[in-house]
This record gives sequence, structure tokens and C-alpha cells, in this order.
Amino acid sequence: MASIRYTVSFLRPASHVFDLRCHIPDLSAGRHVLSLPVWTPGSYQIQDYARNLFGLEASAHGRPLAVDQVAKNRWQFELGEPATVDIRYHVFAYELNVRASHLDATHAYWNGAQLFLLVDDRPEAPVEVEIEAPPGWKVATGLERVADAPHRFWAPSYDVLIDSPVEVGTHRTVRFEVEGKPHTVAVWGTGNEDLARLTQDIQRIVATQARLMGGLPYAAYTFILHLTDRNRGGLEHLNSTTINVERFQFRPPKQYRKVLKLIAHEFFHLWNVKRIHPEALGPFDYDRENYTHLLWAMEGVTDYYAGLTLLWAGLDTPLRYLEGLGERIQAYEKTPGRFQQSLSQASLEAWTKFYKPSPDSPNRTISYYLKGDLVGTCLDLEIRRRTQGQRGLEDVLHRLWDRYGRHQVGFPESVYQETAEEVVGSSLQDFFDRYVDGVDPLPIDEYLGWAGLVVERGWRPLPDAEEGDAAGPAGSPPVPARAWLGVEWDPEARAPVVRVSLVGGPAAELLYPEDEVVALNRVRVRTRDQLMTRLERDFQPGDTVTVTVFRRDELVEVPVVLGPAPYTKVVVRPRADASAAERALFEAWLKVPWPQTQPAEGK
Ligand SMILES: [Zn+2]
Repeated sequence: MASIRYTVSFLRPASHVFDLRCHIPDLSAGRHVLSLPVWTPGSYQIQDYARNLFGLEASAHGRPLAVDQVAKNRWQFELGEPATVDIRYHVFAYELNVRASHLDATHAYWNGAQLFLLVDDRPEAPVEVEIEAPPGWKVATGLERVADAPHRFWAPSYDVLIDSPVEVGTHRTVRFEVEGKPHTVAVWGTGNEDLARLTQDIQRIVATQARLMGGLPYAAYTFILHLTDRNRGGLEHLNSTTINVERFQFRPPKQYRKVLKLIAHEFFHLWNVKRIHPEALGPFDYDRENYTHLLWAMEGVTDYYAGLTLLWAGLDTPLRYLEGLGERIQAYEKTPGRFQQSLSQASLEAWTKFYKPSPDSPNRTISYYLKGDLVGTCLDLEIRRRTQGQRGLEDVLHRLWDRYGRHQVGFPESVYQETAEEVVGSSLQDFFDRYVDGVDPLPIDEYLGWAGLVVERGWRPLPDAEEGDAAGPAGSPPVPARAWLGVEWDPEARAPVVRVSLVGGPAAELLYPEDEVVALNRVRVRTRDQLMTRLERDFQPGDTVTVTVFRRDELVEVPVVLGPAPYTKVVVRPRADASAAERALFEAWLKVPWPQTQPAEGK
């Protein structure tokens, strides 16, 4: 069968409307179906892209053909005899995030799941794409170019077509090579980036991960980078990635490292999830949710290696790595939902919980990114301790790569634990029961202790605190208990607006989502900072305060007995008295020398 040929035309880009044509040669007589995916792989939420599709018409040999829409994203038509069919339709595209499509006078960006109709539910058929763009616009994509045609591309299947986002416009382009393979960075938008430095750092990320995974399994790789004002994020593909970053996030260094970590995360996905993945994650069903219990291993473990990549590429220091680890431990431990939802459940429910959060999410759910990263840390240390530092989590990835990823075949879900057990040479049932399928708190102190590290929990100093104040007023205990309402605040609002009262906290069942706090003990408070400062400086746990709120525009007074605040800072640092064996495990794990300088004491 000859290839299906799509034409994407946008000669009036400011209309934000793509004009699509789909040429389907040699269709047999009988009924045929066209469909548009309801989601795009890597972004686990139903998006119903057909909401942006309109004006669908068909013709056979130039004569109009009746098409029936039979579902939100499905159309069908009948052929009385074999024919070549042409379909025309339009797609509105003005959504700027990595899983969507965006067209304006400066560029076109698309994810194929939004533009390309699938014919007869046969994603395995080869396809061609022709792009009709305004004069002077160039194309960046992971799709393979048809020889000598700058705007014609080819894909071996519909799956590859929609796994290859396309950027068209006047973007800046830089190129580099690693292991003789060409890499392209296409940058749309401007900010405070240093493009030469950024390119060099991306090159180091690529080289570091190539060393870790034993080579680069593609002919070429494309980074599409959008510098913009919102919707930070990335989406992984077989041989490309799209990354949106806030345009002024390239300084200071701590912000810049977040950009690099996002890039390292998306790049590592070319192995972990795009090639090494459970059966549920490819080939895909584009018509509905695709469920797996292993998103934590695909996303959290990818985040774990993204952090290590920066360390191994010399883009982060060991002490800063440990600082970031402390921040992740604090974020995990302050989330009540960690006692409610297991990692495997969080993975399965990503579609309805992680991607559709409610104000109550912190009470009922845990992020499979955050806990997945920490479980990856613990699993790596567990394997290293039991094998005297000889093996680690990377050996699990290497075996999955050799047996499945390299051949682009999904594995049965039980294989992940079985492979880890094979690497360690003994059962990990207890580990998986408690920390993956169960909600036991992670004994992170014990795990890090094996590597000579100590975990300290304390409080960030109050504003205007001076040396010696940290422990609170004279005569108070060394770690003062600070007064706390137990509320998460709406981060968008300057005024103290409740997002949710935490389960088990002082304000549980007393303050509601969207309550706006306007006074404390009948004295006005205007901002969240002002409220926090007053609570922490002037009250003790056990004090009763009157919190006045506007609730649906009605003034309500709520008495609350303040509780003790949980710690706000976690520090992970090397123990001065770490044994030789603990230091050796640290060095086998992080592949850096034991740190000689002690970090500043900080609570
Ligand atoms: Zn990811």
C-alpha cells in the first residue's frame, strides 16, 4: 500500500488555524474509519483534541463523499468501490504548552496527536508529511526528511508521526555532535539565556547519559526549546523533546540548574519510558486511558537520574546535590497524602489524580515524581548495600534495556521487581510491599546512614532573625515549637486564601478551601507573609486564636487552637565520623569522592 500523505498548511498563521489535507491512496470498498487521539503519549490526561477540529470534508476521485461523525473523535464513510480518498479539515491551535499546538505569526508548533487523523485504526502504516509554511520559515523535528525536500518528511508509522513534534519558524538553531551523532537545539523566544553556554551544558548532559547507558540509540536528536512566560514543562519523544521554560530562568545558577535538570529528565526518557517501558506504554491505545502501576519507575526514577546526571556532568556539586535531596525529603514528609496513596496507586491514578488535582490533593495523594525519586534513591542504596557497592539501580536499567528497550518491546509489569531481585541476588518483596505498593513512611535516614550521611530536620530562620535567635527566646527549648494553622495557601493570591486545610492539622474541618483570612484576633491581616509572621512570632502552639474569614463573601469567625509547625528545612550532610565502609558506599553510589569540606551548619 502506498503511504498516506498529510499536508499541513498555515499560510495565514495569525489565524491560529492549521489547514490539513490527508491523501489516502487505494482504499478498498467498504466502511472506513477516521479518528483523532484523545491524548498524547507522555502526558497522561484525556485532552479530547477533537474539540479543536472543524470543517471536515471528504472526496473520492474529486467527487464529494458523505462522512458521518459517530463519536466525539471518530468519523466514518463507505466506499462502493476501491478509491483514493482525500480528506480536508481545520484545527484551531493556540495553546502554548509542550503537549499542545500553537500557531501565530512567529511560529508553528504541533503535537501530531492534535493534527493527524488515524485511518482505519492502523497506526503501523507508513506516512508522509508535507509542510506549507510562510516563506523563509524552517523546520526542526525528529522526523526524517525526504531527500532534497526541505519541507517533506517521512515516518515509518503513525506512532512515530505523532511522537515527533514539529517546530516551524525563524527560530535560532545550534548544532553539536556526541559520539558522531548530530544534535540540534532549536530555540523559539528570547530571555536571559547564554546560548553558547547552554549548548555546551546540553552537550555534557548528552555525553554523561550516553556513558551511563552505553551509547546513543538514534541517528539524530532534536531539542525544541520554547522560552516563554508560562507553562514550564517538557515532553519526551523517541528522538526529540520539547521543553518550555520561563524566559528569565537562566539566572541565577539555582534557577538555571532547574532548567538543566528538566533537560536531563526529558533526555533520559529516550531510554526510560520511550524504549524501556511496561507493555501498557506502547504501542498505545489513542482512544482511552492507558494504565500502568509503574509510572513512578518511568518518571520518579527518571528524575533521580536527571539529578545524578548534573552531578556527573560537573553541572552540580555533591553538597548541592545533597541540599536538593534534603528539599525533596522535606516536600515528601510534609504531604499527608503519603499515608493514603501508594506509589503504584499514584501511577495508576495519574489520569484522574495527578493530572486533575483538587484542593484536597495534598491530603489524599503523593506525587509519583517526588516519592518515585526517593524510592529510586533507596532502591539504589539497598542494592548497593546488599552487593557491597558492586551493583546499583543502573544495572536494573541496563538489563531492561538489553532485554526489552533495545528491541522496543514493552515488559510485563512484574518484570521490574524481578529484574531488581535478579541484580541484587535476593528478594525485594518486603521493599516493594512497603514502599511501592504500601504507604509505610520511607526510612530515608537509615538508607542515607549507610552512605555516611545524616538527615537533620529544623526550621528556616524567621525574617530579621539574628545570630543566636535561631533557638528562640532565652530559656526556650533548643528547637522552638512554632505556632501553625495547618493550612496550604493559594500560591497565586497575595492575600491569605486557603487552598486546603491539612488532614490532622489545627484548622481541619474549620477553615474551608477559598476562605480568605482577613483578621487574626480581630486585627486585620493583609498578606500571607504578615499572617505567618504574626503566628510564628506572637503565638505558641496551644493558643486559641480567632480567625476571621470571608467565606462566599460572608464574614465568619472561626476559633482555632494552634498546633506546632512541622519542620520547614531538611539538611542532608556527611557525618564527620562516617566509617570507611560508609564512605566507600557513598563513593560507589554517587561516583564522587567523599566530601572533605563540611557544609555550613544550617537548620
Ligand atoms: Zn518525565
